[in-house]
Amino acid sequence: MRFVIAKMKHETNTFSPLVTDVARFEARGSYFGNEALARYGRTKTPFGAFVELAREIGAEIEAPVVAEAWPSGRVTADAYERISRPILDAAARGCDAVLLDLHGAMVCETDEDGEGLLLERLRAMAPGIPIAVALDFHANLTDRMVRNCTVMTGYKTFPHVDTYQTGLQAGRILLRALEGEIRPVMRWARAPLLIQTLCQATDEEPMRPLIAAAEAAERDGALAVSVFGGFAHADIKDAGLSVLAITDGDADRAERIASGIVAEAWSRRAAFVYRAEALEASIARAKSLKDGPVLLIDHCDNTGSGGTQDVMTVVREIMRQGLEDVAVFAIRDPDSVDTMIRAGVGKRVTVALGGNTDIPALGLKGEPLEVSGIVRNISDGEFTITAPMFTGVRAYLGRSVVLDTGAIEIVVCERSHEPWDLGCFRSNGIEPTAKKYLMLKSRLHYRAGFRPIARHIIECNGAGCTTSDNSLLKYRHVRRPVYPLDPDARA
Ligand SMILES: [Zn+2]
Repeated sequence: MRFVIAKMKHETNTFSPLVTDVARFEARGSYFGNEALARYGRTKTPFGAFVELAREIGAEIEAPVVAEAWPSGRVTADAYERISRPILDAAARGCDAVLLDLHGAMVCETDEDGEGLLLERLRAMAPGIPIAVALDFHANLTDRMVRNCTVMTGYKTFPHVDTYQTGLQAGRILLRALEGEIRPVMRWARAPLLIQTLCQATDEEPMRPLIAAAEAAERDGALAVSVFGGFAHADIKDAGLSVLAITDGDADRAERIASGIVAEAWSRRAAFVYRAEALEASIARAKSLKDGPVLLIDHCDNTGSGGTQDVMTVVREIMRQGLEDVAVFAIRDPDSVDTMIRAGVGKRVTVALGGNTDIPALGLKGEPLEVSGIVRNISDGEFTITAPMFTGVRAYLGRSVVLDTGAIEIVVCERSHEPWDLGCFRSNGIEPTAKKYLMLKSRLHYRAGFRPIARHIIECNGAGCTTSDNSLLKYRHVRRPVYPLDPDARA
């Protein structure tokens, strides 16, 4: 047996001003050929799971590419070709199956369904080729994606701590199908439901019962049932919640399972609308708390959903209300990093921090914040993730500096990174468990590493292109009517 195994991942926020080009993929670590296998073959990711399954049965592995960029704007045509072409070329050389670690919400300059396009091209080149796909929980499923693969599964957790298991699940179903033991049949369903990610935690209402229903259907004999929360910051026709069921040869049953869970989601639709507290009130509430760490979640500028990671709104309010013993992760500002490294550790500096990026889709202008403090620490920004999400993957913050105002220690780095691992602070010489407040530019993934150490969690409604306030997002492409943009939408 010869398997092509690859990873091509991007969650595209069409409201984000950040360009997703080749350099952005390289910044997070993109590898080709032998290096892809060497770097990712043993990680707890879908790619790592596929490699492990292939090794178990002694299959020959060709791993043409592992590429992932932090969420941002549309993927350039050039970047898309550079990453997807090696997968097509590897499959064209002949193989028994293709196993892909994809996201499901990739929007390209030339096509709003990046994954569907790749799968369609694969099938056009090699009709009927067995294809297994593991998708992110935030996939915006399309008919083209489902039609052009054999098996597709999605994470059941958000934060995503079961990515490896999702890869194993897809890979094992495909291996059993190759053996002729089963005949996977997929059906999917959706409602006109565009839900914000802040309401998608899989261990809380209203999402938890949907995941429980999927798990129950699997215990009852379905091969795999995946609930996709969807990614509402991708303004494309097919954005939104969906459910995909796979059974052994029973299309009617797969259909019933998928549409049953979608009906359940629809009945809970009002609970999927996020309602924010005013920022000033949130910070005042944080100030009144006695013990820490208190997590202050700057969810409107979340790198993990396409945020620019340089909006200063929440930091400004923390300073205005005079909170003390705060650590911040992180402001992306390469110029300030450079200035502070040239000054050196122990030196006092004043920098115009963050605010380097305009966000035209929301009518926001970048507003730097003048901050004075001591350069406390300089690091190369590299560490290995130990949290139960992306475990074993190397993180690259770029050069990183801690700017200490006396009340606040702010990590400033050259590259994007969402904090879900304590290494974000520790690699910069800050012990997060010892701080009263930790401000995190994150939405929900922080929970993977930070919830175990948190005494309190406060969501802070700042500003940025990952806002959960639908009234600030000008949708132009999503199918209408869709709830809650159209409150009277019908399923
Ligand atoms: Zn996701």
